[in-house]
Amino acid sequence: MKKCSVCGRRQAVYKRTYSGELLCKTCLERAVIKGVRRSLAEAHALRPMMKLLLPLTFSNPLGSLVLASVLPKVERQYNGRVTLALPQSLSTDVDEEVLTRSGLDVVHVKLEPERPPSRDPIECWRFDRRWALRTAFQLSQDAIILPLTRTDLNLLLIHTILSGRPEGLSEALPSITWTKPPIISGLSKLEGEIVAAYSAINKINPPQGCNPDLWASKELVYSVARRRPELEFSSHKSLTLLLEGLTRSLHPRHCRMCGGFTVGNGDVCQYCSKLDLNAYLVTR
Ligand SMILES: [Zn+2]
Ligand SMILES: [Zn+2]
Repeated sequence: MKKCSVCGRRQAVYKRTYSGELLCKTCLERAVIKGVRRSLAEAHALRPMMKLLLPLTFSNPLGSLVLASVLPKVERQYNGRVTLALPQSLSTDVDEEVLTRSGLDVVHVKLEPERPPSRDPIECWRFDRRWALRTAFQLSQDAIILPLTRTDLNLLLIHTILSGRPEGLSEALPSITWTKPPIISGLSKLEGEIVAAYSAINKINPPQGCNPDLWASKELVYSVARRRPELEFSSHKSLTLLLEGLTRSLHPRHCRMCGGFTVGNGDVCQYCSKLDLNAYLVTR
C-alpha cells in the first residue's frame, strides 16, 4: 500500500493528477478545505461573523453538496453562519439530517418554474443565481457561495467564446461583486477532479440537476490538456488574461435580476426577461 505523500503516515486513497501528490482521506479533505479558504480569501469573504448563503444549485448539485460538507469547517474559525437553501424539486434526494449535523442551517425554497428551462450553461447558471439572489436578499445574507471550480470557469469561458455569446463572460468570473449580496465561487481555486474525488470518497450523492451541456468546450480543453484533468497553469493564466481583455472590450451592463452581463439596452438580460422566475421561502 502506498503512503500519503503529504503526511507520510496514512494510506493514500487518491492520486491528485494536477500535482502528482498521493493523498490520504484526511489530507484530501485538508486540501479541499484549503482550496475553499483560498477561494473565499481572494473574494474578500473570509471575515468574522459572515452570513453565507449556499444554494443547492441545479447547475452543479454535487459541488454544492461538497461545499455543504466543507464550508462549515472553514467558517467555524471565523464564527460565520452557513445557510443551505434547498429548492423543493431537489430536496427529495437530499439527506437533511446529514446536512444539519455538519452545522448548516437549512431553508426550503419553492421555485416557479421548478427547474431551469434548458441545459444551456448560461441559462442554468443565471437561473441559479437569480433565485439565490432573491433568497439571500430575503434572509439578509452577506454573500452567496456557488460551486464553480477552476475547471468549470475555464469551460464556461471557452463555451462563451465558441457559442459567440459574449454576455456569458460573466459566468466565467470567479466572483460577481456588483450584486447585493456579492456572488462568490467557493471552489474557484480547486480543479474539478479533486472535488469529484472528495465526493466519491465521502459518498456524497447529488440529486439530478440540469447537467449543463458543455461537451464542445470539454472536447477543446481535453485536446489541449491531453489526459490531465485541468489545463496547465500557463494555459489557465492565458485564459484569465483573455477573459479580462474580452470583458473590458465588451463594456457590459449588469442584469438587475441575475447579475449577469447584458449587451442590449435594457437592465434585464435576455435569459431573465423570457423567464418569469419566482422564489418563495417555505417554512416547515
Ligand atoms: Zn495524509
Ligand atoms: Zn438576468
